[in-house]
Amino acid sequence: MLEETTRSVQCDFMSQLLEGKTALVLGVANRWSLAYAIAQAFRREGARLLLTYQGERLQKTVEELGASLGAERVFECDVTRDEDLAKLTETSERLDAVVHSIAFANQADLARPFVETSRDGYLLAQNVSAYSMVAVARATAPLMTSGGAMLTLTYLGSTRVVTNYNVMGVAKAALEASVRYLAADLGPQNIRVNAISAGPVKTAAARGIKDFSKVLEAVEAHAPLRRNVTPGEVADLAVFLASDLGRGVTGDVLFADAGYHIMGL
Ligand code: NAP
Repeated sequence: MLEETTRSVQCDFMSQLLEGKTALVLGVANRWSLAYAIAQAFRREGARLLLTYQGERLQKTVEELGASLGAERVFECDVTRDEDLAKLTETSERLDAVVHSIAFANQADLARPFVETSRDGYLLAQNVSAYSMVAVARATAPLMTSGGAMLTLTYLGSTRVVTNYNVMGVAKAALEASVRYLAADLGPQNIRVNAISAGPVKTAAARGIKDFSKVLEAVEAHAPLRRNVTPGEVADLAVFLASDLGRGVTGDVLFADAGYHIMGL
């Protein structure tokens, strides 16, 4: 039995890891987006790609990026709109992987003390950054007729206090808990649900966090690998989780952060 498992994994290494799979990737805004790095890696590994973008402002950019990746469809999906979420169910006949790479909070809530977070700001961050994962999972699970993998992106600020991460840290805590409950609900359909906790990467979303460059400096100084993680490294972990190599992993948070999260003083 052990021999058989080892042999099948070796075979997978020789071919493209996502060959024959169809992946829906939500959250490409530009070429710096983690979602774009993941889409590139999925394409490299032979996946059919479907991409979404939030609104008209991003349409041209994401369509161009999608064309460069040979994406089969690029369409609008604002995760706060139920009519857009309903469209996800008609996306494709079958899906094997879904990547949720979406977050938003008011900039003001990422700069002032957490205790001053308004009700509206708190609910907005939860709605876009955490609840949307539940809604996306509900809309896409029926398309995973042969099982599949759902992934989301999270950050260490969910379990540790990271200066200025504030309301987003609380939303990421809810997101990670949602991953566990979704994994338990969808596991019987052989749908796996996991989160990747990425180290800091310079993207549009990260630029919204006050003093973000200090976070990058702290990781470079203290992470075991003495450097920051690259988008490609985050994307390769996504490939693992979406591929059959990750078939025994669900409900988990896996770190791609150059090891920073293990450090104490
Ligand atoms: P990004 O390129 O700015 O991606 C965030 C995406 O969320 C954008 O495409 C954004 O669209 C989209 N979005 C926001 N509100 C939305 C809505 N209502 N409906 C649909 N899409 C919406 O930044 P990123 O760093 O790659 O972020 C991707 C994920 O990685 C996020 O969950 C983030 O928290 C997580 N993450 C990032 C880091 C990091 O350091 N960069 C570290 C750990 C985890 P718009 O541009 O139109 O707002």
